[in-house]
Amino acid sequence: MRPSWVEVDLDAIRTNVAGFVAFVAPAELWAVVKADGYGHGDVPVAMAAAESGASGLCVALVEEGIRLREAGLDLPILLLSEPDPEDAAEVLAWRLTPTVYRHATLEVLRAAGEVVTGIAIKVDTGMHRVGATSDQVVELARRAVQLGVAVDSVWTHFAVAETDDPFTEEQTRRFDQTCRAIEAAGVAGFKRHLSNTAGTLLHPGSRGDLVRVGLGLFGLLPSPPCGELIEVIPAMRVVSHVSYLQRLPAGSRPSYGRRRPLTAESTVATVPIGYADGVPRLLSNRNGEVLIGGRRFPLAGTVTMDQILVDVGDADVVVGDEVVLLGTQGGGEIPADEWAEKTDTISYEIVCGIGPRLPRRYVGGEVGRA
Ligand SMILES: *Cc1c(COP(=O)(O)O)cnc(C)c1O
Repeated sequence: MRPSWVEVDLDAIRTNVAGFVAFVAPAELWAVVKADGYGHGDVPVAMAAAESGASGLCVALVEEGIRLREAGLDLPILLLSEPDPEDAAEVLAWRLTPTVYRHATLEVLRAAGEVVTGIAIKVDTGMHRVGATSDQVVELARRAVQLGVAVDSVWTHFAVAETDDPFTEEQTRRFDQTCRAIEAAGVAGFKRHLSNTAGTLLHPGSRGDLVRVGLGLFGLLPSPPCGELIEVIPAMRVVSHVSYLQRLPAGSRPSYGRRRPLTAESTVATVPIGYADGVPRLLSNRNGEVLIGGRRFPLAGTVTMDQILVDVGDADVVVGDEVVLLGTQGGGEIPADEWAEKTDTISYEIVCGIGPRLPRRYVGGEVGRA
């Protein structure tokens, strides 16, 4: 088997979840585990979150919610977007809480059967991705009650919680106003929620009854000021091993494109992991580095689909040595934020991009004991 995998530390996730639970109390912490738990593996992450005090789970897709139920998770599961109409019966059968922002979706859900779990109504307060306007939301809530469908929650989503305080405050103000209008229309007893990780940390006045935290649970934070408010432990390590070594003369140009010459005679290590696994090809000419023996070494040439090349100079490296692409090794660390900065993106995209071809290995205790 190829000696490349993703190591996920479930104790780190438990610690992070417990930290957020304490931080937001008395509000509830709902764990966002969409996109296979941001690449960490949704079922183990959800179980670790459930063991550590999360009150609910959030996913993007119906099939993500079903997978959690099939694994035996019994917490409430919120779908963050409207389900497709053809999935309505499955949504209800698996007790997933659908988000709703169109009348047609509400009617389809009602027709699909008894809506036991209730619905979550999404109001657009400025993100302009999905959600109904304030006025539409009031109508929607009224109609739900008419149909005998419980409104479990009303929620919105921030566009710039990590960077723009005035706009986030404006979104919060619009949300509060909408909730008051819904209550004035005779609908009550719903929970309110607005905040993602950045909102939770930077806007304590916007916590509502629960927060929807994703990134922070994995030990990553959306902006530097967040790090002053909570301590988290990164849960992911991307690990491979040296599979081949060559001693090459100065001037050799390893890999596709022959882009860069070695400036001196050097040992070049081949490592069996590549862009098909989520190692950004852009790192080739953006000073990408890896850890071997706790030390940093630069990439030698272009990242290929299945393999990378590393210039280890005259270091004492042997075939089989562990190579860490992301995470810690000895005293060294390559955080996801470093890849993100070097490749003009955010840590979210880095960890979600770590591909399914790499097996996930879990450390830090079994899940599902509770
Ligand atoms: C992904 C997502 C979240 C979680 O965001 P983080 O920044 O990862 O905490 C919360 N709410 C919605 C609607 C989302 O799509």
